[in-house]
Amino acid sequence: MIKAIAFLAIFGSLVFLGTGGIFIIAGGSDNVLIGGASIGIGLLLLLITYFLVREEAKRPIKQNINVTLSGSGEFRQRVIQCPKCGAPVKDENVKMIDGGLLITCPFCENVWTLEEEPKW
Ligand SMILES: [Zn+2]
Repeated sequence: MIKAIAFLAIFGSLVFLGTGGIFIIAGGSDNVLIGGASIGIGLLLLLITYFLVREEAKRPIKQNINVTLSGSGEFRQRVIQCPKCGAPVKDENVKMIDGGLLITCPFCENVWTLEEEPKW
């Protein structure tokens, strides 16, 4: 959006500058006055555009990324149980280490790991 506005403003300022130049070249006190005013407007437009673009560049860029998670089937809750005593394991007993899951049983303090099985 700001790029389109800046493009138009720069184009407009160039038109003003060009017109002003033509008027000044044409000579005559009236023409020089009009030409000067036109160049002034052109320079003002360029200046405003410069500040607008600079302010826009300062703003942080916001991006929205939508991610939809989908499994190959339905999600099922899987209860992890201690292989030694059969006690259910809570989230806080599971640690992620080197891409694997290290699980500590809260009851018998048995430690074991869960590795991800390949999907194929
Ligand atoms: Zn246990």
